[in-house]
Amino acid sequence: MTAYRGPVFEMAVKQFEVIANYLGIPDDARPRLLLPKRSVTVSCPIHRDDGTTAVFEGYRVQHHLTLGPTKGGTRFAPTVDLGEVAALAIWMSWKCALVGLPYGGAKGGINVDPSSLSKRELEALSRRYMQEMIPFVGPHTDVMAPDLGTNEQIMAWFMDTYSMYQGQTVTEIVTGKPVSAGGTLGRREATGRGVAHLVRRAADELKIRLNGATAVVQGFGNVGSIAALELHNMGVKVIAVSDHTGALYQSRGLDIPQLVRHAASQGSLDGYSNELALDPAEMLTMPCDVLVPAAVERVIDAEIAGKLRCRILAEGANGPTTPEADRILEGRQEEIFLIPDILCNSGGVVVSYFEWVQDLQRLFWEEEEVMRREYQLLDRAFERVLARSGRENIFNRTAAMAIGVERVRSAKETRGLFP
Ligand code: NAD
Repeated sequence: MTAYRGPVFEMAVKQFEVIANYLGIPDDARPRLLLPKRSVTVSCPIHRDDGTTAVFEGYRVQHHLTLGPTKGGTRFAPTVDLGEVAALAIWMSWKCALVGLPYGGAKGGINVDPSSLSKRELEALSRRYMQEMIPFVGPHTDVMAPDLGTNEQIMAWFMDTYSMYQGQTVTEIVTGKPVSAGGTLGRREATGRGVAHLVRRAADELKIRLNGATAVVQGFGNVGSIAALELHNMGVKVIAVSDHTGALYQSRGLDIPQLVRHAASQGSLDGYSNELALDPAEMLTMPCDVLVPAAVERVIDAEIAGKLRCRILAEGANGPTTPEADRILEGRQEEIFLIPDILCNSGGVVVSYFEWVQDLQRLFWEEEEVMRREYQLLDRAFERVLARSGRENIFNRTAAMAIGVERVRSAKETRGLFP
């Protein structure tokens, strides 16, 4: 019995079972690895602009504390519940372990549509959420970051609220802050840059020339827009992009810099062009060299997996592919090279780790230094995954997760079971 429920949590459990079976982990050792260490649910009341009071439910899940503090994003979305947050925390653990960071995974969120709040209401809710979290988080306990529906501004409000209660500025309590508030250069771009860097590594493996290759990017927020821009800068024709308002298509390649400016000023792709509009349902199965899902979970199910026509599937989002779809993709490994989410989008947590290190030391790096170190860690993880999948003749996701799960398991075994 567990308090965590729902399709996303079930997906994290199924993925873990595949890996635990592959690694031959005994049944009695599994719950200790899989079940979150701690979780908290809070009610966050705010005054609405119309004078009424509204209460939003917030969550934070810390998966394991074996390797150091926990680390993970904060999601503001109407889908958020305890099960979804727990699944995302579990994935963060395997991701941090895969890339070798001294963290366990965490995740948090509020069940809210942030676009339904005014800026003042959003600030009030962000501050109240952080205030409710103070007994559970800390720079050496649990460090927050942005995710779906949150951004640098919200991280600055989190940091300011925590600092006000401590009576001193504690920049290291969150990452993904603006540079002016103790953030690091290169964090905002880190996840999308990492996605594009790993696409280049995969293209090299497959001997695909990226100059003139085609890409489709689902989601045009932080991860999707930067990944699209980086791919565009590499000479890739980004032929289709989408967000929650719709999709756009142009066979000769969209003007990505202009789309980035439009989304930044308008808040979405809406209103950019009627002529280029495409049915979003067609996006994922369009023929292309590179497909980047960078929006939400479970968009590639078994049916879509059978119809994908890309050469490289670069999972910018967390959990875009269901376990049922994985079974299909495993059978299509010769056609489609998977860069699994815990590797593909790990540039974000890697640079968050750099931000935390810089904040703790009060010593800040140049952007080139941040990027050089980011790519170094991503290259190392990419090579480990490829070596393992080649050596054991397994799916890239199995290889990536096996490395992550093994590292957590080995740390738990070495530390022993208290008391
Ligand atoms: P974001 O809020 O900045 O952007 C999300 C984008 O997805 C928006 O453009 C939104 O309109 C779009 N979207 C939402 N639902 C959609 C749908 N059904 N179809 C198409 N587009 C849709 O969020 P983000 O930070 O870019 O995160 C995107 C994904 O990447 C999430 O899965 C997140 O967990 C993951 N991720 C983010 C980071 C990070 O550093 N921000 C790091 C690792 C993983």
